[in-house]
Amino acid sequence: MTAMIELTDVHKSFGDHHVIRGFSASVARGEVVCLIGASGSGKSTILRCINGLESYERGCITVDGVTVDCTDRSIVTVRTHVSMVFQRFNLFPHRTALENVIEGPIYVKGESRAEAIDRGRALLARVGLADKEGAHPAQLSGGQQQRVAIARALAMQPRAILFDEPTSALDPEMVGEVLEVMRSVAEEGMTMLIVTHEMAFAREVADRVLFLDQGVILEQGPARSVLTAPTNPRTQDFLRRVL
Ligand code: ADP
Ligand code: MG
Repeated sequence: MTAMIELTDVHKSFGDHHVIRGFSASVARGEVVCLIGASGSGKSTILRCINGLESYERGCITVDGVTVDCTDRSIVTVRTHVSMVFQRFNLFPHRTALENVIEGPIYVKGESRAEAIDRGRALLARVGLADKEGAHPAQLSGGQQQRVAIARALAMQPRAILFDEPTSALDPEMVGEVLEVMRSVAEEGMTMLIVTHEMAFAREVADRVLFLDQGVILEQGPARSVLTAPTNPRTQDFLRRVL
């Protein structure tokens, strides 16, 4: 069976800064993988290459067997199949919670408005925001905005969701509610690649953890072994600093 997300020897530079230096990894269908590493190690760049927000120079990325080669066609395909949740929510400020959730299904997938609204309401209820469908982002807390963003990601009925530090911009008291929603999405079998510094969450929810250092994976394995008994000295050092 092919992996849902597969990266083979991917290289990416910004000018002469060689940021991703031979990244190979795969995420199986239904698997939850956490990508950890210091700031600047290339975590966001990897996610952005997977859904075509950045091009890459060498290697190969496939999503559900489709090559992401940054042609218009491959980008439309990958954006329909892969949702992304950002650190800063990225909701449309002038649209309500429900409008944010139904936008993609209507304009990208061509669903009828009625169908999109039905599922959008159900998804807002699922993330605990049934009573907030008419609220604009500015009227919502950070935790609520991020839960809307997760509902929006789910509304596309994606094959995988990429999360880029989804709780890093939140006040500490709101981190738990967002992680709880992510945990429930994981339990329902969604394929997830998550950049996070929440090590307790990674240990409980992730199947595997990848440790990225200067654009290459230095260590990977089952979440428990990488996070509790890392073998590479750089992983050990990183975990000592974040735990
Ligand atoms: P992380 O998410 O792990 O903090 P990033 O993937 O954001 O790391 O960045 C990796 C490196 O690439 C950093 O040195 C960063 O400054 C650089 N970088 C990221 N995006 C750009 C860009 N658009 N232009 C130039 N350099 C970039
Ligand atoms: Mg980042």
